[in-house]
Amino acid sequence: MQDRYAVIGNPIEHSKSPLIHAAFARQTGENLTYDKILGDLEQFEREVARFFQQGGRGLNVTLPFKERAWRLANSLSEQAQRAKAVNTLIAMPDGTLRGENTDGIGLIRDLTKNHNRLLSGCRILLLGAGGAARGIIGPLLAQGPERLLLANRTPSKAQDLARQLSGQGPVEWSGLEDLEGQQFDLIINSTAAGINAEIPAVPDGILAPGGWVYDLMYAREPTAFVIWGRSQNAFKSLDGLGMLVEQAAESFSLWRGVRPETAPVIAMLSSA
Ligand code: NDP
Repeated sequence: MQDRYAVIGNPIEHSKSPLIHAAFARQTGENLTYDKILGDLEQFEREVARFFQQGGRGLNVTLPFKERAWRLANSLSEQAQRAKAVNTLIAMPDGTLRGENTDGIGLIRDLTKNHNRLLSGCRILLLGAGGAARGIIGPLLAQGPERLLLANRTPSKAQDLARQLSGQGPVEWSGLEDLEGQQFDLIINSTAAGINAEIPAVPDGILAPGGWVYDLMYAREPTAFVIWGRSQNAFKSLDGLGMLVEQAAESFSLWRGVRPETAPVIAMLSSA
């Protein structure tokens, strides 16, 4: 029988994860199925329990359930523990569930491996203080940036998150309106504004000459924030497709013990 995996989220229709994992399985010869599950906002925990009781081997967890997955995991990786958010659940041999967070590794791999962007000494602005920001702050700090400023529409949420994660390194926080007059070498958008084709209300001129822009969101057409990056003369203005594939590869290798090649899968999705 094929091993069963799936991604659970709400909404889920748009998810590219089944395509990505099917491509990884073909490439590595692993025998598995990977489905989409529309998670019920009331019944998420029961649905997860049912999936694993019925023999499921692993789940990816996406918006808005990452924090609830963190709560229900029986054990956590260091990164998931720090982020207080889980995007990968693994069925362990003793019947327990282990929680991992591969979002941060996915972002770092895409920037540093796929795009050769060194982050040490870099002035980084991270927009948004939601579930995705939680997962990427620690891995960004581990790269040794000159500064990491977390800015959010609701400044108190940036403050809370910066406080919670302060053990991982220095994280500054502010509101969006306080960014005027500052300069950053890399601006990362982890807000959900793009879902409505909006961008967070950031001032023009905060991207340093030669600076990069990275939108965690991805879409068939350039996202609103990628377009904003181009308007600011970004050296590169990237969307989150590479991160999506890289975080999936990390989940896949945690589940199957084999690391797939990501470049052909990114190329396949980019040209689709
Ligand atoms: P959350 O809902 O947890 O985060 C929402 C954040 O967005 C909050 O900080 C909120 O600010 C901010 N926000 C929402 N609307 C606006 C707006 N109009 N202007 C300014 N700020 C706004 O979402 P996630 O963190 O889970 O996900 C964020 C994005 O990242 C999504 O688009 C998701 O698809 C993408 N993502 C991509 C991944 C990838 O692999 N490429 C992986 C994970 C996420 P406030 O606190 O003020 O409400």
